[in-house]
Amino acid sequence: MRTISTISDLRKLLCVDKKNLSLGFVPTMGFLHEGHLSLVRRSKKENGLTVVSIYVNPLQFGPTEDFKKYPRDLERDRKLLAQEGVDVLFVPTDEEMFGEGTMCKDQTIISPPECLTNCLCGKSRPGHFEGVATIVVKLFEIVSPNRAYFGQKDYQQCLVIQKLVRDLHFPIDIVMCPTARAKDGLAMSSRNIYLSKQERKVAQILYKSLQYGKDEVLKGKISLAQIAAKSRMFLEKIAQIKVDYFEIRDAADLRTIKKIGVGSKVLIAGAVWIGKTRIIDNMLVRIRGC
Ligand code: AMP
Repeated sequence: MRTISTISDLRKLLCVDKKNLSLGFVPTMGFLHEGHLSLVRRSKKENGLTVVSIYVNPLQFGPTEDFKKYPRDLERDRKLLAQEGVDVLFVPTDEEMFGEGTMCKDQTIISPPECLTNCLCGKSRPGHFEGVATIVVKLFEIVSPNRAYFGQKDYQQCLVIQKLVRDLHFPIDIVMCPTARAKDGLAMSSRNIYLSKQERKVAQILYKSLQYGKDEVLKGKISLAQIAAKSRMFLEKIAQIKVDYFEIRDAADLRTIKKIGVGSKVLIAGAVWIGKTRIIDNMLVRIRGC
Protein backbone atom coordinates (compact mmCIF):
# COMPACT_ATOMS: atom_id res chain seq x y z
CA MET A 1 0.00 0.00 0.00
CA ARG A 2 1.31 3.45 -0.94
CA THR A 3 0.69 6.31 1.47
CA ILE A 4 0.50 9.67 -0.23
CA SER A 5 -0.04 13.11 1.22
CA THR A 6 0.04 15.49 -1.73
CA ILE A 7 -2.51 16.01 -4.46
CA SER A 8 0.08 16.12 -7.23
CA ASP A 9 1.69 12.83 -6.13
CA LEU A 10 -1.70 11.15 -5.94
CA ARG A 11 -2.72 12.38 -9.39
CA LYS A 12 0.59 11.22 -10.88
CA LEU A 13 0.30 7.79 -9.29
CA LEU A 14 -3.31 7.29 -10.32
CA CYS A 15 -2.52 8.35 -13.89
CA VAL A 16 0.01 5.54 -14.11
CA ASP A 17 -1.81 2.91 -12.09
CA LYS A 18 -5.39 3.41 -13.19
CA LYS A 19 -5.08 2.51 -16.87
CA ASN A 20 -8.20 0.49 -17.57
CA LEU A 21 -9.00 -0.38 -13.98
CA SER A 22 -12.08 0.97 -12.24
CA LEU A 23 -11.28 3.03 -9.17
CA GLY A 24 -13.17 2.69 -5.90
CA PHE A 25 -12.84 5.41 -3.27
CA VAL A 26 -13.59 5.30 0.47
CA PRO A 27 -13.35 8.69 2.18
CA THR A 28 -12.96 8.53 5.99
CA MET A 29 -11.85 10.52 8.98
CA GLY A 30 -9.78 7.60 10.26
CA PHE A 31 -9.70 5.78 13.60
CA LEU A 32 -11.01 2.90 11.56
CA HIS A 33 -13.40 0.19 12.66
CA GLU A 34 -15.29 -2.67 11.01
CA GLY A 35 -17.78 -0.22 9.50
CA HIS A 36 -15.04 1.51 7.53
CA LEU A 37 -13.46 -1.81 6.64
CA SER A 38 -16.75 -3.16 5.27
CA LEU A 39 -16.74 -0.24 2.80
CA VAL A 40 -13.14 -1.01 1.87
CA ARG A 41 -13.95 -4.71 1.27
CA ARG A 42 -16.89 -3.78 -0.93
CA SER A 43 -14.70 -1.43 -2.96
CA LYS A 44 -12.00 -4.10 -3.30
CA LYS A 45 -14.61 -6.53 -4.57
CA GLU A 46 -16.04 -4.15 -7.15
CA ASN A 47 -12.94 -2.33 -8.42
CA GLY A 48 -9.46 -2.94 -9.76
CA LEU A 49 -8.00 -0.21 -7.53
CA THR A 50 -9.06 1.07 -4.12
CA VAL A 51 -8.08 4.43 -2.67
CA VAL A 52 -8.92 5.31 0.95
CA SER A 53 -8.55 8.80 2.35
CA ILE A 54 -8.09 9.74 5.97
CA TYR A 55 -8.74 13.38 6.71
CA VAL A 56 -10.36 14.84 9.80
CA ASN A 57 -12.27 17.58 8.06
CA PRO A 58 -12.31 20.76 10.16
CA LEU A 59 -15.13 22.23 8.06
CA GLN A 60 -17.70 19.73 9.23
CA PHE A 61 -17.26 20.38 12.95
CA GLY A 62 -19.12 23.18 14.73
CA PRO A 63 -17.16 25.56 17.00
CA THR A 64 -18.18 23.69 20.17
CA GLU A 65 -17.74 20.20 18.68
CA ASP A 66 -15.01 17.61 19.14
CA PHE A 67 -12.63 18.45 16.27
CA LYS A 68 -9.57 18.74 18.52
CA LYS A 69 -10.19 15.59 20.49
CA TYR A 70 -11.51 13.49 17.57
CA PRO A 71 -9.66 10.14 17.89
CA ARG A 72 -6.68 9.70 15.59
CA ASP A 73 -4.28 6.76 15.15
CA LEU A 74 -2.70 6.79 11.73
CA GLU A 75 -0.28 3.94 12.33
CA ARG A 76 -3.03 1.57 13.42
CA ASP A 77 -5.20 2.65 10.48
CA ARG A 78 -2.33 2.11 8.03
CA LYS A 79 -1.85 -1.45 9.25
CA LEU A 80 -5.55 -2.25 8.99
CA LEU A 81 -5.77 -0.88 5.45
CA ALA A 82 -2.60 -2.66 4.33
CA GLN A 83 -4.05 -5.95 5.65
CA GLU A 84 -7.17 -5.34 3.55
CA GLY A 85 -5.03 -4.90 0.45
CA VAL A 86 -5.84 -1.23 -0.14
CA ASP A 87 -3.76 0.16 -3.00
CA VAL A 88 -3.39 3.78 -1.96
CA LEU A 89 -3.94 5.66 1.29
CA PHE A 90 -4.32 9.41 0.82
CA VAL A 91 -3.60 11.44 3.96
CA PRO A 92 -3.58 15.10 3.02
CA THR A 93 -2.60 17.90 5.39
CA ASP A 94 -4.83 20.93 6.04
CA GLU A 95 -2.50 23.04 3.87
CA GLU A 96 -2.89 20.56 1.02
CA MET A 97 -6.68 20.66 1.24
CA PHE A 98 -7.10 24.37 1.85
CA GLY A 99 -3.98 26.09 0.56
CA GLU A 100 -1.33 27.52 2.82
CA GLY A 101 -2.53 30.13 5.26
CA THR A 102 -6.14 30.10 4.12
CA MET A 103 -7.34 27.07 6.11
CA CYS A 104 -11.10 27.23 6.28
CA LYS A 105 -11.42 30.94 5.54
CA ASP A 106 -12.05 32.37 2.09
CA GLN A 107 -12.98 29.04 0.62
CA THR A 108 -15.45 28.09 -2.06
CA ILE A 109 -18.20 26.34 -0.14
CA ILE A 110 -20.59 23.79 -1.57
CA SER A 111 -24.05 24.39 -0.22
CA PRO A 112 -26.42 21.43 -0.49
CA PRO A 113 -30.16 22.24 -0.76
CA GLU A 114 -31.93 23.09 2.48
CA CYS A 115 -34.60 20.47 1.95
CA LEU A 116 -31.89 17.88 2.75
CA THR A 117 -30.04 19.80 5.44
CA ASN A 118 -32.57 21.68 7.55
CA CYS A 119 -33.67 18.61 9.49
CA LEU A 120 -32.24 15.69 11.52
CA CYS A 121 -28.45 16.13 11.95
CA GLY A 122 -28.45 19.32 9.85
CA LYS A 123 -30.73 21.03 12.35
CA SER A 124 -28.55 20.34 15.36
CA ARG A 125 -25.27 20.75 13.46
CA PRO A 126 -25.60 23.93 11.39
CA GLY A 127 -23.02 24.08 8.59
CA HIS A 128 -22.13 20.41 9.00
CA PHE A 129 -23.34 19.26 5.60
CA GLU A 130 -21.77 22.24 3.84
CA GLY A 131 -18.49 21.14 5.39
CA VAL A 132 -19.04 17.55 4.31
CA ALA A 133 -20.11 18.48 0.77
CA THR A 134 -17.18 20.87 0.31
CA ILE A 135 -14.57 18.33 1.32
CA VAL A 136 -16.20 15.49 -0.62
CA VAL A 137 -16.26 17.60 -3.79
CA LYS A 138 -12.57 18.42 -3.30
CA LEU A 139 -11.76 14.73 -2.78
CA PHE A 140 -13.83 13.67 -5.79
CA GLU A 141 -11.96 16.22 -7.93
CA ILE A 142 -8.62 14.95 -6.64
CA VAL A 143 -9.27 11.19 -6.82
CA SER A 144 -11.72 11.01 -9.78
CA PRO A 145 -13.11 7.64 -8.72
CA ASN A 146 -15.62 5.56 -10.67
CA ARG A 147 -17.37 4.52 -7.46
CA ALA A 148 -17.39 6.02 -3.97
CA TYR A 149 -18.48 4.12 -0.87
CA PHE A 150 -20.44 5.58 2.04
CA GLY A 151 -22.17 4.04 5.06
CA GLN A 152 -25.90 3.96 5.65
CA LYS A 153 -25.15 4.89 9.26
CA ASP A 154 -24.82 8.45 7.95
CA TYR A 155 -27.92 8.23 5.79
CA GLN A 156 -28.53 11.97 5.51
CA GLN A 157 -24.92 12.39 4.38
CA CYS A 158 -25.47 9.74 1.68
CA LEU A 159 -28.49 11.65 0.35
CA VAL A 160 -26.55 14.93 0.33
CA ILE A 161 -23.72 13.29 -1.61
CA GLN A 162 -26.01 11.53 -4.07
CA LYS A 163 -27.64 14.91 -4.73
CA LEU A 164 -24.38 16.77 -5.27
CA VAL A 165 -23.12 14.08 -7.62
CA ARG A 166 -26.31 14.46 -9.68
CA ASP A 167 -26.37 18.26 -9.58
CA LEU A 168 -22.66 18.75 -10.34
CA HIS A 169 -22.56 15.93 -12.94
CA PHE A 170 -19.81 13.87 -11.34
CA PRO A 171 -19.53 10.58 -13.26
CA ILE A 172 -19.34 8.67 -9.97
CA ASP A 173 -21.58 5.89 -8.63
CA ILE A 174 -22.38 6.42 -4.97
CA VAL A 175 -22.62 3.07 -3.22
CA MET A 176 -24.40 3.04 0.12
CA CYS A 177 -23.24 0.15 2.33
CA PRO A 178 -25.14 -1.37 5.29
CA THR A 179 -24.40 -0.23 8.83
CA ALA A 180 -21.89 -2.43 10.65
CA ARG A 181 -22.98 -3.09 14.22
CA ALA A 182 -21.58 -4.49 17.43
CA LYS A 183 -23.18 -7.70 18.76
CA ASP A 184 -25.71 -5.75 20.84
CA GLY A 185 -26.76 -3.70 17.80
CA LEU A 186 -24.86 -0.47 18.50
CA ALA A 187 -23.75 1.07 15.20
CA MET A 188 -19.97 1.16 15.04
CA SER A 189 -18.51 4.63 15.19
CA SER A 190 -15.09 6.15 15.87
CA ARG A 191 -16.78 8.20 18.57
CA ASN A 192 -17.86 5.10 20.54
CA ILE A 193 -14.39 5.24 22.11
CA TYR A 194 -15.60 8.27 24.11
CA LEU A 195 -18.21 6.14 25.93
CA SER A 196 -17.45 4.92 29.46
CA LYS A 197 -18.16 1.25 30.18
CA GLN A 198 -21.48 2.16 31.71
CA GLU A 199 -22.43 4.53 28.86
CA ARG A 200 -21.47 1.85 26.34
CA LYS A 201 -24.01 -0.51 27.93
CA VAL A 202 -26.72 2.14 27.75
CA ALA A 203 -25.88 3.01 24.13
CA GLN A 204 -27.57 -0.10 22.69
CA ILE A 205 -30.93 1.45 23.57
CA LEU A 206 -30.82 3.59 20.41
CA TYR A 207 -30.73 0.46 18.25
CA LYS A 208 -33.53 -1.06 20.33
CA SER A 209 -35.70 2.02 19.91
CA LEU A 210 -35.18 1.95 16.13
CA GLN A 211 -36.02 -1.74 16.08
CA TYR A 212 -39.19 -0.99 18.06
CA GLY A 213 -40.04 1.80 15.60
CA LYS A 214 -39.49 -0.51 12.65
CA ASP A 215 -41.72 -3.24 14.13
CA GLU A 216 -44.51 -0.72 14.78
CA VAL A 217 -44.26 0.76 11.28
CA LEU A 218 -44.56 -2.73 9.82
CA LYS A 219 -47.56 -3.54 12.05
CA GLY A 220 -49.22 -0.32 10.92
CA LYS A 221 -51.56 -0.13 13.92
CA ILE A 222 -50.62 3.34 15.18
CA SER A 223 -49.64 6.54 13.36
CA LEU A 224 -46.04 7.40 12.50
CA ALA A 225 -46.23 10.38 14.87
CA GLN A 226 -47.31 8.08 17.69
CA ILE A 227 -44.53 5.63 16.92
CA ALA A 228 -41.91 8.39 16.98
CA ALA A 229 -43.32 9.82 20.23
CA LYS A 230 -43.36 6.41 21.92
CA SER A 231 -39.79 5.66 20.84
CA ARG A 232 -38.71 9.02 22.18
CA MET A 233 -40.39 8.34 25.51
CA PHE A 234 -38.73 4.95 25.65
CA LEU A 235 -35.33 6.65 25.22
CA GLU A 236 -36.07 9.52 27.59
CA LYS A 237 -36.80 7.10 30.43
CA ILE A 238 -33.06 6.43 30.64
CA ALA A 239 -31.48 9.02 32.90
CA GLN A 240 -28.15 9.28 31.01
CA ILE A 241 -29.84 9.90 27.66
CA LYS A 242 -30.82 13.19 26.09
CA VAL A 243 -32.68 12.81 22.82
CA ASP A 244 -31.56 15.15 20.05
CA TYR A 245 -34.14 13.82 17.59
CA PHE A 246 -36.11 10.71 16.79
CA GLU A 247 -38.06 11.02 13.57
CA ILE A 248 -39.70 9.07 10.80
CA ARG A 249 -39.35 10.61 7.35
CA ASP A 250 -39.58 9.79 3.67
CA ALA A 251 -36.38 7.89 2.84
CA ALA A 252 -36.13 9.38 -0.66
CA ASP A 253 -36.02 13.07 0.24
CA LEU A 254 -36.42 13.35 4.03
CA ARG A 255 -39.86 14.98 3.74
CA THR A 256 -42.08 14.59 6.79
CA ILE A 257 -44.83 12.08 6.19
CA LYS A 258 -48.00 11.27 8.05
CA LYS A 259 -49.06 8.07 6.35
CA ILE A 260 -47.28 5.43 4.38
CA GLY A 261 -48.63 3.33 1.58
CA VAL A 262 -47.61 0.07 -0.01
CA GLY A 263 -44.21 0.38 -1.72
CA SER A 264 -43.09 3.43 0.23
CA LYS A 265 -39.80 3.49 2.03
CA VAL A 266 -39.33 5.34 5.28
CA LEU A 267 -36.32 6.33 7.30
CA ILE A 268 -36.45 5.98 11.07
CA ALA A 269 -33.58 8.04 12.41
CA GLY A 270 -32.40 8.94 15.87
CA ALA A 271 -29.62 10.90 17.54
CA VAL A 272 -29.01 10.89 21.28
CA TRP A 273 -26.51 12.32 23.69
CA ILE A 274 -25.09 9.88 26.21
CA GLY A 275 -23.15 12.08 28.58
CA LYS A 276 -20.90 14.14 26.32
CA THR A 277 -21.09 11.76 23.36
CA ARG A 278 -23.60 12.12 20.55
CA ILE A 279 -24.46 8.94 18.66
CA ILE A 280 -26.67 8.51 15.61
CA ASP A 281 -28.32 5.58 13.90
CA ASN A 282 -31.18 4.78 11.53
CA MET A 283 -33.19 2.04 9.89
CA LEU A 284 -34.98 1.87 6.58
CA VAL A 285 -38.39 0.25 6.30
CA ARG A 286 -40.12 -0.66 3.07
CA ILE A 287 -43.83 -1.35 3.19
CA ARG A 288 -44.64 -4.33 1.01
CA GLY A 289 -48.03 -5.32 -0.32
CA CYS A 290 -49.65 -8.70 0.50
P1 AMP B 1 -16.20 8.68 9.16
O1 AMP B 1 -14.79 8.25 9.29
O2 AMP B 1 -16.98 8.56 10.42
O3 AMP B 1 -16.37 10.00 8.46
O4 AMP B 1 -16.89 7.61 8.19
C1 AMP B 1 -16.36 7.34 6.93
C2 AMP B 1 -17.35 6.49 6.18
O5 AMP B 1 -17.60 5.29 6.90
C3 AMP B 1 -18.72 7.17 6.01
O6 AMP B 1 -19.23 6.88 4.73
C4 AMP B 1 -19.55 6.54 7.08
O7 AMP B 1 -20.93 6.53 6.81
C5 AMP B 1 -18.99 5.12 7.07
N1 AMP B 1 -19.30 4.45 8.34
C6 AMP B 1 -19.08 4.92 9.59
N2 AMP B 1 -19.56 4.06 10.50
C7 AMP B 1 -20.10 3.02 9.81
C8 AMP B 1 -20.74 1.81 10.16
N3 AMP B 1 -20.96 1.48 11.44
N4 AMP B 1 -21.14 0.98 9.19
C9 AMP B 1 -20.95 1.30 7.87
N5 AMP B 1 -20.35 2.42 7.48
C10 AMP B 1 -19.91 3.29 8.42
